[in-house]
Amino acid sequence: MLSLRSLEQLNFDNSYARMPEEWFQRTRPLPLKDTHLISFNARVAQRIDLDPCQVNPDQLARYFGGHEALPGSSSLAMKYTGHQFGQYNPHLGDGRGVLLGEVLNQKGERWDLHLKGAGQTAFSRFADGRAVLRSSIREYLASEAMYGLGVPTTEALCLIGSEEYTSRLGMEPCAMLCRLTRCHIRFGHFEWLYYSKRHDELKQLADYVIQRYFPDCQAHENPYISMYQQVQTQTAYLVALWQAYGFVHGVLNTDNMSILGETFDYGPFTFMDHYEKDHIANKNDDAGRYAFSRQPNIVHWNLACLAQTLLPLVDRASLEETLETFPQEFEKQLLQRRKVRIGLQASHVNDADLIDRLWTLFAKHRTDINRFFSDLTDQQYPLNLSQSLDQHTQKEPVAWQQWLNDYQQRITLEASSPPMRKQQMRAVNPRFILRNYMAEEAIREATQGDYRLVNQLLSVLRNPHEQHTELNHYQDAPPDWAAAICLTCSS
Ligand code: AMP
Ligand code: MG
Repeated sequence: MLSLRSLEQLNFDNSYARMPEEWFQRTRPLPLKDTHLISFNARVAQRIDLDPCQVNPDQLARYFGGHEALPGSSSLAMKYTGHQFGQYNPHLGDGRGVLLGEVLNQKGERWDLHLKGAGQTAFSRFADGRAVLRSSIREYLASEAMYGLGVPTTEALCLIGSEEYTSRLGMEPCAMLCRLTRCHIRFGHFEWLYYSKRHDELKQLADYVIQRYFPDCQAHENPYISMYQQVQTQTAYLVALWQAYGFVHGVLNTDNMSILGETFDYGPFTFMDHYEKDHIANKNDDAGRYAFSRQPNIVHWNLACLAQTLLPLVDRASLEETLETFPQEFEKQLLQRRKVRIGLQASHVNDADLIDRLWTLFAKHRTDINRFFSDLTDQQYPLNLSQSLDQHTQKEPVAWQQWLNDYQQRITLEASSPPMRKQQMRAVNPRFILRNYMAEEAIREATQGDYRLVNQLLSVLRNPHEQHTELNHYQDAPPDWAAAICLTCSS
């Protein structure tokens, strides 16, 4: 029988704080002025055995607004480095966040609590250490949206507002977000120890990661290559999901890559309203290094950066051999993720061709892919350009009807009945996706002190496959003004 706890009773066991002192700066969050609770996620609270009935808004605003330390926590800012836009930057680290500690729950899982926007640390360089309400709401909602879609992600326990302001797009209110994930170790943690030639400590970090996240690797002849293989596999799975849902991360620097293959460090991300292969989410990314279609290659490049750091522990040939398998691994995952979105479970020779033709049509017509898949899920057979599909296909009805005919023929080879298939498709085709304009609306209202939409969207995105009567208009096509939304590194 699991028993739930209050915030004061959380079972902290801070293993990272027991690692070498040079790996972090021991520091406390700097409180924000006049903090208040904006939102609390009771689902996420269960991760740490926290009883939602035993928390109150004032207490959350105190602990997660940086005013008071949670009993048992041992806060620190982690040191890491990384490649930013292709260049190695040795001066990184938690510049505006602190790891409060790790909670060991009754299932034996270890969850990191990290407070983002917690003020300056030794790694802040010239910046203010703060996060603004706008970007914090985006991360808060995106974490739940990814969870709802079944895409690996960090999560968020609560969002705290304040009366403190800082300069971004003009003066903006500051906020703090409590991020929960099993892992705050980035590719950049390995890069730091490798490039500063601390190879004994590199081994110590790898041993820590293996013990904590990849214990099966211990039985392998070389646990480090086995660990690398698992990181690569989980990362290939992640990026395949991004590509299948039209998600653009925006800033795929190696310091934003979790070694657990979770979507990590939300900034100027976008779920595309209209499919565009070369969509650039981040206005600051002039060269389009992190454009949608480049994500798999960039992630491969980032994995090469990680592999490089393991050279003191693994022979080069094994690393290169594994790294070479990434494109294949990714393509296999991508095909699978795309297939299930159109309800294909079995394998047939022409599947890849059928899928490619569909995505070519998407690119040609800038299809709203997430609405397309949702509408396709609701279709009756035989398929035709009925009203609900017509809105996606009207630009080239002949080509679309041809594709639908071939698809329908392919469907006859499936063992599943139409109702079963509909159920399978609905499970991977959400009715709701976090579009930029939805986040913008929630931000606009929150800036006026009204947090209802943040909280409503949180529950919609947690269960995006269900109907949500009062918010069903978010299933419709986005408004025209959505196209003008501009995201930057400060988003
Ligand atoms: P990001 O672009 O959020 O992934 O951050 C890249 C690096 O800049 C990390 O080392 C961050 O900790 C740091 N950083 C970003 N924003 C701030 C800020 N407002 N204050 C201090 N450090 C920051
Ligand atoms: Mg980052």
